Amino acid sequence: MEPKDREPHADGRKKMRYGELPLEAKCTRCKGTATIRMPSHHANFCPPCFLRYFQTAVQRAMKTLGIQEPGPLMVAVSGGKDSLALWAILNELGYETRGLHLNLGIDGFSHSSEEAVRAFARERQLPLSIHSLKETFGYTLPEIKGRTRRKICGVCGFLKRQFMNRLTVREGFRYLALGHNLDDEAGRLLGNIVRHRTQYFAKQYPLLPSRHEKVPTRLKPLYRLEAHEIVTFCRLASIKPCEDPCPLSGGATSHVFKEALDFLEAKMPGTKRDFLFSYVDRRPPPPAHPDFGTCRRCGEAAYETICSVCSLLERLEKSKKNSQES
Ligand code: AMP
Ligand code: ZN
Repeated sequence: MEPKDREPHADGRKKMRYGELPLEAKCTRCKGTATIRMPSHHANFCPPCFLRYFQTAVQRAMKTLGIQEPGPLMVAVSGGKDSLALWAILNELGYETRGLHLNLGIDGFSHSSEEAVRAFARERQLPLSIHSLKETFGYTLPEIKGRTRRKICGVCGFLKRQFMNRLTVREGFRYLALGHNLDDEAGRLLGNIVRHRTQYFAKQYPLLPSRHEKVPTRLKPLYRLEAHEIVTFCRLASIKPCEDPCPLSGGATSHVFKEALDFLEAKMPGTKRDFLFSYVDRRPPPPAHPDFGTCRRCGEAAYETICSVCSLLERLEKSKKNSQES
């Protein structure tokens, strides 16, 4: 969200929005012509200096997360701007990567998302694994929505997390990189604080170490980059993400917390970064001690005797049987 008003500051200067530049602005780094405004850094950049800034932010994230030489990385790519930017930058930085896409079977949206991922991989000749929820789990997301009373965004998030973990390990990778950015992480932190969800505080970290042989270490290398910076990177790197909104995501509330932070950011540039980094950078990563058992039905990691995927599957099978009988 950007400020709607454009009233002048007390000293008569006009407020400026992201992307707008004063005439003849100079790049804060090289003093060349700047075209990119970065209010949260009190800086303006030319495209090459912006790209260097972007690379450095990802390198710094990897260093902070303690993963200098992580070995091959599986990259979860939804087809949106964040995960395609993530795949591009990790590749530029020399990491060995493979893309992983899960097609959720949502009419139109899933097709466009998969196409964006395929086109990106084809153009850059990067290896890619595509799986579908229907083949892997037996149901598409709309089919699940019709058979459960739970909020579909929550079910979708949990299924994506479970299947991306499983598929990553099955393909022989120990690390899974995800495209969550600074806005996502700061919004989640605010939501957890407002609702005092202390049980999630430990997991509010851009790296979650593996706690079971069937679960990879999950990392978020874009956590130091804001959404608008990722949009700029995609434009400069000629990345064409799928921009369709998910037609099932109507009830999600996560964007409200992000909007609240955008409001603060517009009034006080840099607030969003301060909020997230003052929390994350002072904490150690969550411990890697194993807290999982093994599911007696499928052999995957489980908190109970049966894993959350199998327990959802059992409920869906029961619902299917009931509707066939009636
Ligand atoms: P979301 O949960 O939709 O905000 O997505 C967060 C991150 O999860 C994305 O940046 C991707 O890295 C990954 N992701 C989301 N959806 C998919 C998908 N269908 N296939 C592969 N990765 C995904
Ligand atoms: Zn199971």
